[in-house]
Amino acid sequence: MNWQRFKKWAHVTPEQWNDWRWQYQNLVTTPEELIELFPEFEQEVEDIRLTLGKYKFSSSPYYLSLIDPTNPEDPIKLQTVPSRLEMNIEAGVDRRDPLAEDRDMPVPGLVHRYPDRVLFLITEICTLYCRFCTRRRVILEKESHIDRQIDQGIDYIKKNPHIHDVIISGGDALVVGEKLLESVMSRLRAIPHINIIRLGSRIPPVCPMRITPELVNMIKKYQPVFFMTHFNHPFEITPEAKKACALLVDNGIPVMNQAVLLRKINSCPVVMRKLCYDLISMRVKPYYLYQCDLSEGIGHFRTPVAKGIEIMESLRGHVSGLAVPTYVIDAPGGGGKIPLGPNYLMSHSDHKVILRNYAQKIYEYNEPLETDCRCSTTEAIKKALDVQTQS
Ligand SMILES: *Cc1c(COP(=O)(O)O)cnc(C)c1O
Ligand code: SF4
Repeated sequence: MNWQRFKKWAHVTPEQWNDWRWQYQNLVTTPEELIELFPEFEQEVEDIRLTLGKYKFSSSPYYLSLIDPTNPEDPIKLQTVPSRLEMNIEAGVDRRDPLAEDRDMPVPGLVHRYPDRVLFLITEICTLYCRFCTRRRVILEKESHIDRQIDQGIDYIKKNPHIHDVIISGGDALVVGEKLLESVMSRLRAIPHINIIRLGSRIPPVCPMRITPELVNMIKKYQPVFFMTHFNHPFEITPEAKKACALLVDNGIPVMNQAVLLRKINSCPVVMRKLCYDLISMRVKPYYLYQCDLSEGIGHFRTPVAKGIEIMESLRGHVSGLAVPTYVIDAPGGGGKIPLGPNYLMSHSDHKVILRNYAQKIYEYNEPLETDCRCSTTEAIKKALDVQTQS
């Protein structure tokens, strides 16, 4: 990336720029630094100051360097630069905690919503504070923080043998420092009923140089680990980001992407198709596409649900199935993720279903006469599972 075009960073060497420590030592966190880099945003500085009265701001130099300042609706800018629209709270729509995460926390920072997996929030810190963050109430608000109780969380997981999958997130799972992260991962791995560990992190698009061989060697000691990342726009897929993802995948750590559908950023079939295609081309699986939540102050990022369905329609069948994510709404009130998409089932009778395909052609499928679908192995597998959860 061409960082030398910024006066502030003209003297920065490639060694410094590509060192995550330099990136972290030079995070941009004030409106003044932002305007120094982008005099084009001068008119917005009062709005930015107003919003920063309540909310945090931070970005890596690397991520800011991806902004095209001549485009007022640049997708990287919209994700990074505070807007006064964030101060709008729409009565009757916006909610502080739309997913009722606080209600489903048996231990502060641990969300236990589904039977077999938990979301473990170990920090409220992020390298980039995404303006659309669903967890704004704890991540972006200056006055708030996550009451993180890591020891208590691990104890809870230990005592609940039904939990097999732990999503370490926050904030950003990778900002806590390698020592703390490793201590959490190793303590989880020592619990016999824990199978999958996931790491939730926006570092690959935001500060890809942080994905070092040392970090990856640490992570891979605790396999099976899935790396859940968050790219929202094809312009985030740079040579640096590709290198970071390749390092993870080459070391046997699958990388999955959870994008958010964001108005004016990726809210059209062309942009989304390019994003999904570029992701799968670097071996990152598009996993979820989230409808934007009802959190306070992010109404300007929301798209109609019909737009999400239209985008899904434009993907399925038209691009490699590997590139197609599942479009979900995280149900307001804490109902969990609900998948949505175009309807391909036109009618369903006892003996026949009528379907349509991606190209709008109609097909018939004849149902079998035999409907007994019981498997001979069910009881044996159930018994084995019971033994496992009891031990
Ligand atoms: C999204 C989420 C999960 C994980 O859901 P998957 O569908 O398994 O990816 C788990 N717990 C909570 C609270 C979540 O929001
Ligand atoms: S990285 Fe994730 S948790 Fe952090 S601000 Fe962005 S969306 Fe929120």
